[in-house]
Amino acid sequence: MSDVADRAEWRIAMDLTVACAHARRTPQLEADGYCHYCDEQVAHGALFCNTECRDDYQREQEAFRRAGR
Ligand SMILES: [Zn+2]
Repeated sequence: MSDVADRAEWRIAMDLTVACAHARRTPQLEADGYCHYCDEQVAHGALFCNTECRDDYQREQEAFRRAGR
């Protein structure tokens, strides 16, 4: 259990989120200090409070994309 490892994992996850957003040409989310999924306050520059919210958000977006036209 290491905070440093957790933070490194979080950093990598954020980088992947950005890379995926670019790859899919989806509009870049703006970091407004709150989680885009659950509206919890997050660290400056972060889009989500944790990787679960990020994954859930992306799953939701994909579901919308699949359901929508
Ligand atoms: Zn969240």
